[in-house]
Amino acid sequence: MSDKILMTPGPTMVPKEVLDVCHLQPYHHRTPEFYELFSCLNSNLKKIFKTNMDVLTLTSSGTGGMEAVVANLFKKGDKVLVASIGHFGERFYDITKAYGLDSDIIDFGWGNAVDLNKLEDALKKNEYKALIVTQNETSTGVTNDIKAIADVAKRHDVPVIVDAVSSLGGIPLEMDEWGLDAVVTCSQKCLMSPPGLSFVALSERAWQMAEESDLPKYYFDLKKARRGVQKEKPDNPYTPAVSTIMAVKKATDMLLNIGMDTVYKNQHLIGEKVRKTIKDIGLKLFPDESISSDLLTAVEVPEGYKAGDIINYMSERGILITGGQAHLKGKIIRIGHMGYITDEMLDLTFDALKNALSDLS
Ligand SMILES: *Cc1c(COP(=O)(O)O)cnc(C)c1O
Repeated sequence: MSDKILMTPGPTMVPKEVLDVCHLQPYHHRTPEFYELFSCLNSNLKKIFKTNMDVLTLTSSGTGGMEAVVANLFKKGDKVLVASIGHFGERFYDITKAYGLDSDIIDFGWGNAVDLNKLEDALKKNEYKALIVTQNETSTGVTNDIKAIADVAKRHDVPVIVDAVSSLGGIPLEMDEWGLDAVVTCSQKCLMSPPGLSFVALSERAWQMAEESDLPKYYFDLKKARRGVQKEKPDNPYTPAVSTIMAVKKATDMLLNIGMDTVYKNQHLIGEKVRKTIKDIGLKLFPDESISSDLLTAVEVPEGYKAGDIINYMSERGILITGGQAHLKGKIIRIGHMGYITDEMLDLTFDALKNALSDLS
């Protein structure tokens, strides 16, 4: 087995303490051991989502959590606004279309953040049932100011749905404090665990919307999931990814032991270190530094190089990074540094990148 270092914006590296629980015999999901485990996980997740509402665990990747939010909150033909700054904003829009919503998308441009004035204008003009926005746009390495966006939405009384798939547990997000109505994340990004689970929390207002929703759903029926977590012995409606639950329970214990404020601070220092090193090497950051993500760094491919060659070179030396998506393919490379990242991983990545640039020139 090759042990590559995943400097990718999901899946991310899994720390040894978490790997140690991954190889255990999974608990049966209708046993006291499982109820205890799941109850601890649920309470950890609430502390990381910063919410008093239930956090639901779905067996799917992050996209399944996004789909669950759409299927559970809306009625056919509802008007929603998607504020997109890249690939994942577009994905959320596509999901709303797949469910027959009358959604609009404002594209702020790949590499930009949401412009609050333009957002305000759009919300003013229409009666939207919800605003959908991405906290950390993984395709471009840009972080939106969700608190400021939620403040704009609040002025127009529009519920806010946040794709925090690549950000929750890595940068600040205060679900209750900021008045967010739906927050989605998954196991394989900042939560330092293997893929397999998505997590969704809804506000009171969102649960009321769920009462009126008429869109088809079965496996991703959030009311069923909520009945499960509210039991005295909490469980899931169907067999969940028990091994990943064991992993996320362990990983969230670790994050909470460090303390979320310290986690955010460390993550910010890592972001700064990566940006500084990239500039020192002579490369150009893709987004403006003021909106650059602390969780991944998108870098312009320098003249005379091919993105694929740099990625392959580094991969052959054990470091996996990724390229651009859609029209940014070939134009940028993306270095993920979210979740479990050590100085050694960063140094190996910088060395491999520098060697790629000199050997491929
Ligand atoms: C990774 C990611 C997703 C979901 O991806 P999955 O492969 O379905 O887990 C959604 N949004 C963002 C911003 C992401 O980074």
